[in-house]
Amino acid sequence: MDLTGIEAIDIHTHPQTEEFLAAMGARRRQMGEHFKSDRTPVSFAQQAELFREKSMLAVLCNSDDETISGVPPAPNDLIGEAAADHPDVFIPFAGIDPWKGEDAIAEIRRCHDKFAIKGIGELNPTRQKFYPNDERLYPIWEVCAELGLVVMFHIGYPGAGAGRPGGMGYKLDNIRPLHLDAMAADFPELNVIAAHPGWPFHHENIAACWHKANYWIDLSGFAPRYWPPEVIHYANSLIQDRVLFGTDWPVVGIDRWLDEFAEIDFKPHVRRKIMLENAARLLGFDQKALASS
Ligand SMILES: [Zn+2]
Repeated sequence: MDLTGIEAIDIHTHPQTEEFLAAMGARRRQMGEHFKSDRTPVSFAQQAELFREKSMLAVLCNSDDETISGVPPAPNDLIGEAAADHPDVFIPFAGIDPWKGEDAIAEIRRCHDKFAIKGIGELNPTRQKFYPNDERLYPIWEVCAELGLVVMFHIGYPGAGAGRPGGMGYKLDNIRPLHLDAMAADFPELNVIAAHPGWPFHHENIAACWHKANYWIDLSGFAPRYWPPEVIHYANSLIQDRVLFGTDWPVVGIDRWLDEFAEIDFKPHVRRKIMLENAARLLGFDQKALASS
């Protein structure tokens, strides 16, 4: 990927075509009510243009929780094809259901070979009802490490199930950072992204990121004005090399994220690391192109 002229990499966006909205099942309405936003279809071409006009690259995430929800996922092929159609914007990740075992592993290999995916995610331990450090799932992470794929996990407060009786059966314990920290300890060669600032477990999240060089944090899903002060303090200092720009689009709009980020007192060189340099390094893009842009 040529980074000439690229100003930022959004590490975390979700396709909004009808296929992906349908794959949300009951959460489509629940999430719409929780975030007070309409979930109306957006084509890949429209999404690409939103990021292209800002000189940004955007990771496309996918998810598969069929074992738990019974709702079939949107095929990863849609993401692979969108990335092929818009190679100047999109970076493909693939969604997998960790409970599908050998089939999940086969899907990872297929997407790697066919679409040159850069990562797996977003996995959601609450919604998919697993723990990242459950050793039954370790064969999956082994394959991700073997293929050099980044793996993204939702960490902290989940929108999924929020506001419903029993939270639709989802439990907050699954998305505590220390479960991911334990997995990252067992896979030092695997880069993991803790998606979102991690509230209300952000202290654990910061500690895991500071402690483990393969643990990254993306700043998506919460508008910057709601980031806990500790997240800003550490992102601006000790963990500045492993914090990533992400919107969780369409949950947080690009302009809103940028406007509110601009109002926070970040050091200029840290701003550039968060917006571009850290993700470029994580995804293995050519650093020379960065220096010349
Ligand atoms: Zn997300």
